[in-house]
Amino acid sequence: MAKVDATNASKGYKGNKQSLPTKLCSVCQRPMTWRKAWAKNWDEVKYCSEACRRNAKQATSSR
Ligand SMILES: [Zn+2]
Repeated sequence: MAKVDATNASKGYKGNKQSLPTKLCSVCQRPMTWRKAWAKNWDEVKYCSEACRRNAKQATSSR
C-alpha cells in the first residue's frame, strides 16, 4: 500500500558521483546496481541474487 520505494531510494542514495548502470531483476523487478563482480558479464546478469535465479528456473521449468 505504502509506496515509499522511490522516495526512499533517492533519499538514501549517497555518492552518485558516477552513475553506475542499473537493471531490473527479471524475477523480483527490483533495481540492481552494477557491481564490480558483474563487470565481465553485466549483459548477461538478469537476476539480483542466486535466489532469484533459482526462482526463475523453477518458474520456467513448470511450463
Ligand atoms: Zn531479484
